[in-house]
Amino acid sequence: MAFIKINKENFFHNLNQIVLKVGSIDKVDVVLKDNAYGHGLEIIAALSQEFGIKQAVVISSEEAMQATPYFDHILVLNGTPVVDEKLSFAITDMRALEAVDSGVQIELKVDTGMHRNGIAMGDIEKALKIIKLRNLHLIGVMTHFRSADMLGSELYWQQKNFEMVKKKVRESQCGEVRFHSHNSAAILRSKHFDEDIARAGIAIYGCNELPEAYDMVELKPVLSLWAHRASTRVLKEGQRVGYGGDFTATEQMKVSTYDLGYGDGWRRGESAHPYLTAEGLPILGRVSMDFISLATDKEEVCIMHDVQEAARHFGTISYEMTTMLSPSIQRVVV
Ligand SMILES: *Cc1c(COP(=O)(O)O)cnc(C)c1O
Repeated sequence: MAFIKINKENFFHNLNQIVLKVGSIDKVDVVLKDNAYGHGLEIIAALSQEFGIKQAVVISSEEAMQATPYFDHILVLNGTPVVDEKLSFAITDMRALEAVDSGVQIELKVDTGMHRNGIAMGDIEKALKIIKLRNLHLIGVMTHFRSADMLGSELYWQQKNFEMVKKKVRESQCGEVRFHSHNSAAILRSKHFDEDIARAGIAIYGCNELPEAYDMVELKPVLSLWAHRASTRVLKEGQRVGYGGDFTATEQMKVSTYDLGYGDGWRRGESAHPYLTAEGLPILGRVSMDFISLATDKEEVCIMHDVQEAARHFGTISYEMTTMLSPSIQRVVV
């Protein structure tokens, strides 16, 4: 089967860049949701721990269980709240606030403009009142930016909203809470980071999705995707390859199949616009469920080492490119 190499040196380089931006390693909260953006949750958790990171963000209770051994604290974005001294749970609407147990560590998510999750800004006072009345254990207040990775000033508008939220929370005397709002793009854009933690996702994996105008931090790709040769044949001119015979040999050529397909989370794409592997080999004809064909007989080929370039080819974003990769593909640290 195909396999994934995780480049430890590049991962540490990226973490260093984030630490420089936010000012302290203790302020970096690595986002490991969705199997660490497809990189492998436990591998990335262990490397983060080795680097000295103390905190992580995950999506589910299952992921929290996997990550627990590696961190001091874990924020669960969409889990079933339980009492656990290592875990906190994002509370994203009033109903959840009414239902949560008073022993659970909660972080209130406020909707400052994205209108996806979070309680409305107009409900802050009400929420804080419930927290006090129900004696809930509020440890954090957070928000998420809708367009930190786009050229423009929308980020500042949301940040201003969040400042108003902070003021109300401080005035409410709900105790000591941590404030956080920054995703990768906001971290990379920030000049004077002054919040308690930053939630660093895509940047730690080496992708900088900011427009060129902002592009100042050099990040290095962490993941590369490789495949093994399954079989080789020599085609005569005119013979066609794969489903539909979309590729026709224009001369006698050596063609091999490699063990990667759309069943592994690789993109099927369009055979008329073939993807080029890291070594510049076009995928010949259609991508099958478990195989692709290439004009080489190397034992191992690197299919992708620049996730952002691949994402551009397929008309998507780096996040989707790596998250789609099947958890059953073997990951090795190099
Ligand atoms: C995914 C996510 C992040 C990380 O975003 P990146 O753009 O990958 O840095 C931060 N906060 C929340 C709430 C998220 O869901």
